[in-house]
Amino acid sequence: MSLYELIYLLGFVVATVIRSYYGVQFKRSNIVAKGAEHPLVYIGMALWSIVLLLPFASIFTGWITFADYPAVAGLQMVGVLVFVTGLWVLRCSHVDLGRNFSPSLFIRDHHQLVSHGIYRHIRHPMYLSFLMWAVGQALLINNWLAGPLGIIAFLFIYGFRIEREEQQLLDTFGDQYREYQQKSARLLPGFHKRS
Ligand code: SAH
Repeated sequence: MSLYELIYLLGFVVATVIRSYYGVQFKRSNIVAKGAEHPLVYIGMALWSIVLLLPFASIFTGWITFADYPAVAGLQMVGVLVFVTGLWVLRCSHVDLGRNFSPSLFIRDHHQLVSHGIYRHIRHPMYLSFLMWAVGQALLINNWLAGPLGIIAFLFIYGFRIEREEQQLLDTFGDQYREYQQKSARLLPGFHKRS
């Protein structure tokens, strides 16, 4: 096992702890509105679950060695940076979103619009952390299946969910969300103020 593969495995543990800890930490209220997901989001989610586990196959078995490619020195270091920063962004987004978090398009009882902390700058830091994870994974694991496939899974989830999520928040918070949109970037700080 290479150092970079070990970093992936440690990151997997850290991300699992963050997701479970903050899922339990904040008692979430009842769901008052459920938005319909685009059907392709489910395909993205299924792909994402597979992609998260493929590095285990790549590291511990020889099943997918046919898709291996040679490591590019330097790129793996970039991968570490992106991957670790992504974990930090994931933690910040969970802390700031708190009890307003949901795994799907849910509006909860007493749902509050969060526009502080990391949400002050970007509206979708959690999705940014997924993108950073996918890019980090692609650079850390030198296998076409266990690496870059995650970026495709991310594009499915993000691409087919984002409009519906923002529309639901607009329907719920109206001008408050519209103003927030004006002041923040969607995914990357400094980019796409509104779209
Ligand atoms: N898209 C966000 C949140 C993902 S969790 C991110 O990437 O950080 C999805 C849930 O968060 C949905 O139920 C959505 O209604 C809620 N949500 C998204 N942005 C929010 C915000 N600024 N304030 C409160 N809830 C928000």
